[in-house]
Amino acid sequence: MTVVVCAQPRGSAIDRGKLVDLTHAYNEQAIYWPTSPPFKWNKDAWGKSEAGYWYTSATFTTSEHGGTHLDSPIHFAEGKWNTGEIPLERLIGPAVVIEVTAACVRDRNYLLKPADIEEWEKRHGRIGEGDIVLIRTGWSRHWPNRMAYMGSDKPGDTASLSFPGIGAEAARVLVSRKPAGVGIDTASLDYGRSKDFLTHRILNGANIYGLENVTNLERLPAAGATLIALPMKIQEGTGGPVRIVAVLP
Ligand SMILES: [Zn+2]
Repeated sequence: MTVVVCAQPRGSAIDRGKLVDLTHAYNEQAIYWPTSPPFKWNKDAWGKSEAGYWYTSATFTTSEHGGTHLDSPIHFAEGKWNTGEIPLERLIGPAVVIEVTAACVRDRNYLLKPADIEEWEKRHGRIGEGDIVLIRTGWSRHWPNRMAYMGSDKPGDTASLSFPGIGAEAARVLVSRKPAGVGIDTASLDYGRSKDFLTHRILNGANIYGLENVTNLERLPAAGATLIALPMKIQEGTGGPVRIVAVLP
């Protein structure tokens, strides 16, 4: 008699062999905005307790806007959603990956253009309502080298920041497609030289959240993956640390 053992896990809707982590680790090297305090993680207890059992516990403190994190719409738009208000179904959706790696190698201050979006749509169809659009500049290869990633490694120095981002015109095109969120593998939706954060204001103004310091985008196809981006549920948060996972098609 032959017993057939089914290897498929019971009740799992997700193929666990197809998960990709798009998140940088939070540690001493994690890159934060030059004006933000760095990520802090202190061990409160670490080792054998007096009673003889193993016990560890630590305390962390963090800006809402450092490392791989979410920007809530309220970050740059009065009256729009805070972190606790973003509906769960907006944080899970089809991933659109628009690659501009070569342009960013030529110009570290490259701005995503409407033509980059239109080029993607020619191949894969129009970006749909509720999609999560990810801009792949290739910048995460510089992580955690602050000088290469940000253009400056001086604490407090925002004047000499230099890295690629999303141009205002491209942001307006994205808004017209009604995505749930827009992410990028740099420190900001706006490029490093921005002084007015216009792209943040355009996207957040349309109640679209941001994902910043995303990584491993080269492991995703241009279309077909599903994104799951779950921030820490800070009730009135302007953003927060987020674990981003893609499920490959
Ligand atoms: Zn942010």
